[in-house]
Amino acid sequence: MEEIRVRFAPSPTGKVHIGNIRAAIYNWLFARHTGGKFLLRVEDTDLERSTPEAIQVLFDCMKWLGLDYDEEVFYQTKNAPRHLAVAEQLLASGHAYKVERTSRDGKTGVVTMFRMPKEGTIEFDDIVKGHMAKKAEDIPDFAIVRSDGSPIFHLANVVDDIDQRVTHIIRGDDHVENTFKHICLFQALGAPIPKYGHLSMIVNQQGKPYSKRDGAAFVGEYREQGYLPEALFNYLLLLGWNPGDDREVLTREEMIRLFELEKVHVTAAMFDPKKLAWMNGEYVKMIPPADFQAEMRRRVAAAGLADGGHDAAWWDYLAAQIQPRTKVLNDLDTSLTCFFTDDYPMDAKAVEKRLKKPGVKATLLDLVTRFGAVAAADWTAPNLEALVKGLSQGGGMGPWVHPIRVAVSGRGEGIGLFEMLQLLGKETALARLGKVAATLEP
Ligand code: GLU
Repeated sequence: MEEIRVRFAPSPTGKVHIGNIRAAIYNWLFARHTGGKFLLRVEDTDLERSTPEAIQVLFDCMKWLGLDYDEEVFYQTKNAPRHLAVAEQLLASGHAYKVERTSRDGKTGVVTMFRMPKEGTIEFDDIVKGHMAKKAEDIPDFAIVRSDGSPIFHLANVVDDIDQRVTHIIRGDDHVENTFKHICLFQALGAPIPKYGHLSMIVNQQGKPYSKRDGAAFVGEYREQGYLPEALFNYLLLLGWNPGDDREVLTREEMIRLFELEKVHVTAAMFDPKKLAWMNGEYVKMIPPADFQAEMRRRVAAAGLADGGHDAAWWDYLAAQIQPRTKVLNDLDTSLTCFFTDDYPMDAKAVEKRLKKPGVKATLLDLVTRFGAVAAADWTAPNLEALVKGLSQGGGMGPWVHPIRVAVSGRGEGIGLFEMLQLLGKETALARLGKVAATLEP
């Protein structure tokens, strides 16, 4: 059987859009699933945008996501002589002709046009979208070489696919219209027509193409925000494909084993940032504890906070509490602060909701007394919980738990309150409760 060869053919701009990288992921999985080759072609003809830095961003992004490619990177600009030779061939065979054109700046030059067939139907069976057809007469002739002698996308893209012996073209469905033209080019050149799979666009919650106005649209932004590559990979895969059951978190091996291009959804893929954050949290839970702890320590140091000289058991306990509640690694920059400085920010909304209420001052002062009576050796989460439970007399611990949490951490959310109090230690917890109580009206 013929070897399956697919390619990812981005035009580097310095930023890699999540829609583009999803196409790369689908290509990669298709190749790995079928035992074929995954090629990388850099469509670097826009010299202003395709700088070495922009190309490096692309490489870094692929490496980060574990998208390894086979064979050498193929640079489109290096194949320009072939593109032009093919244009000559098309001129010689009558499939192309030259015409004088006046450009917008008033200069006149000669472009090479591809002669579209004037009758018949151009059709293909798209692996994702099904049968596609268009009347040839509805597609006008199109330019393949500019008047400055540079090859145009359609020509370069098709010739490169021929030269790279690409068997399946998996790309965004913004290229469907181009495909009708490309098929005619393949035919005119007597080359086999690859199979096509056009992927639906990623859309926002309103069904419009997902753009930077909707949130982070580029892979680099997710990386900077502390998303894990495995989670982004997994999430983008599920935007338009699922394993046929309700599994959502899959290992790379499972993805490779289960992925089928035929099962990719035709409908637009709605991007849900909350779902991505959830998925990331699932991957954060899988980080080996030692690595997670190292990440916490690194962030504490980077924030310029003193590490407090705590022992290993304290760090282990903190990490065990924090890790399952961390969705995105950058959350750590907020969730860790109160454990390393008394100068933690007070969330205005949480203060308003939980502290600025009649009776809270008295509650906090009462707690200072009661907590103060707990022996240092008994300052543990279960003991403190039992104490507050006793105060609540079965009526729910909310009136104690919420004000305490905001007072000692400045936030309305976080790890379990009693675990937090244990970690802070008696002295620190009491000092904070007292200090905050003093700022409140009775
Ligand atoms: N450079 C084109 C793009 O990024 C390539 C499209 C294709 O995969 O053929 O959209």
